[in-house]
Amino acid sequence: MDSKTHCSVEGCSDAIKARGLCVKHYQRLIRNGSIFKQEKYKNKTCSVDTCEETVVAKGYCKHHYNKLRSMGKIGTKKRCQVSNCNEPHHAKGYCTHHYYLHMKKANN
Ligand SMILES: [Zn+2]
Ligand SMILES: [Zn+2]
Ligand SMILES: [Zn+2]
Repeated sequence: MDSKTHCSVEGCSDAIKARGLCVKHYQRLIRNGSIFKQEKYKNKTCSVDTCEETVVAKGYCKHHYNKLRSMGKIGTKKRCQVSNCNEPHHAKGYCTHHYYLHMKKANN
């Protein structure tokens, strides 16, 4: 049986201070809202180009991560790389029309 006298964080054997955590981990929980170190995503911003929010998971901010989870993907549609073209992306950075032109040119 586990006597529960140690911090509940895996790998930590310090004595419990509060809420099942040692002083160190309890303070981290208070400070960060999480017991986990946030090194991995430290100072990183959301993968969505226009978003400056801090990453919380999988490279996305809270907002976009929730969106990702609810929609299964982020709603950033890729567009044709031709500057005045607004068609959806088809292949190799081009829309169907420009991809066709690109391939035609490449084959000449
Ligand atoms: Zn601990
Ligand atoms: Zn974001
Ligand atoms: Zn195009």
